[in-house]
Amino acid sequence: MSFSSLGLSEPLLRAIAGRDYAAPTPIQAAAIPAVLRGEDVWASAQTGSGKTAAFVLPIIDRLVAEGPRGRGRFVRALILVPTRELAAQIAEEVAVYGSQLPREAALKTLVAVGGVSINPQMMALGGGADIVVATPGRLLDLLDHNALSLASVSTLVLDEADRLFALGFADELARILALLPVRRQTLLFSATFPPAVRTLAENILSNAVRIAIAATPEGRPDIRQRAIEVDASQRTQLLRNLILFHEWTRVLVFVATRYATEHVAEKLCRLGIPAAALHGELSQGARTQALADFKAGRLRVLLATDVASRGIDIEQLPVVVNYDLPRSPADYTHRIGRTGRAGESGVAVSFISAETDAHFRLIEKRNRVPLEREQIAGFEPVETIVPGPAPTGGIKGKRKSKKDKLREAAGLPPTAAPKPAPAASTLETGDLFPFSRRPPQPPRSR
Ligand code: AMP
Repeated sequence: MSFSSLGLSEPLLRAIAGRDYAAPTPIQAAAIPAVLRGEDVWASAQTGSGKTAAFVLPIIDRLVAEGPRGRGRFVRALILVPTRELAAQIAEEVAVYGSQLPREAALKTLVAVGGVSINPQMMALGGGADIVVATPGRLLDLLDHNALSLASVSTLVLDEADRLFALGFADELARILALLPVRRQTLLFSATFPPAVRTLAENILSNAVRIAIAATPEGRPDIRQRAIEVDASQRTQLLRNLILFHEWTRVLVFVATRYATEHVAEKLCRLGIPAAALHGELSQGARTQALADFKAGRLRVLLATDVASRGIDIEQLPVVVNYDLPRSPADYTHRIGRTGRAGESGVAVSFISAETDAHFRLIEKRNRVPLEREQIAGFEPVETIVPGPAPTGGIKGKRKSKKDKLREAAGLPPTAAPKPAPAASTLETGDLFPFSRRPPQPPRSR
């Protein structure tokens, strides 16, 4: 299979050649012809599988084939995404793939996202745009300001569609959908479509071509998943040790709260590891800078909330760490999918404490990836919680320590009363220099 057999035009094939892609990925091979035919598409494929080009390439070709846009504030293709960073990334892809179009066919592409002044975006929308890549909130602000009209949108893309259907975006999405023409092409893309959003997805599609790229062993991203048991208070120090021992050059670390991103980043910096925070309350300038510094290798660690879990493509990112566990199995898939992209291999490490063990079991069960628990020498967990029910349906199970299990087997009482376990997102301040407790040792998997 080659790109030229998919029906794409010469200028696009030239732009693709500049990328040195050997062949279309399965999602591209399946989606591009369907989008070119004007069909609705509902596509699920693994993270890092080339979804962006699967919709950007045929959209460009269709818009060029339709001829120049008319006058007015009209938009022809609308790409909705959940984060600003993803919007910027997709617009960059549009620019690259459209770079070989003849001047008269050049497409006007705009990014409409929050966190920056709305005025330049309003000005830029004068005369309309061929492609707008937007986050829902800012798009609605621009609509409220009458800066654009969606009445002529011929193609709507929901990238990371399940996220856009979920709480937090659902109302905004509904308002936007109400302003779009009923007759349009709709394309939904994501790596995950939890059952709860499937009906919503079906409702906005019409005779969609359903593309589900099976997770074959060959097609599956090459991500080695590890689950390391560690007490919550030891995570920063363990993270530092792992980074130094494995000589990880670039690590994306997910934490639960904005506060934690900054707190842990600060600690790592103090421990001599260049790190920065990325979360939704930073200014857009700071967000862009943090991501750019990380991509350019000026930062070794980026501490992020789930704002960085969707769609973001960071080349040569060998490691993702779940310092705090994600809320849902789908979030887990998206987070770890930041590594092992485009044929590269990657490692995804999750820190599991006694308190979060049951939650992680649920993630493993839903994603059908049972993982062996590891402990790292010098960081064996000491926190225990009393035995409880089996971890099904999100009930927090309680487990005994290995030491207590051994003592129990030998007919001895437990060593000590169980300590209360900290909440999953609690960050202890006492873990700054735990090396004072015991001499440093290289981490070693058991
Ligand atoms: P995406 O899933 O769109 O974020 O793409 C993931 C990565 O795959 C990006 O770095 C793309 O540049 C890369 N990519 C996209 N299409 C191909 C292809 N046909 N062959 C190799 N790499 C690709």
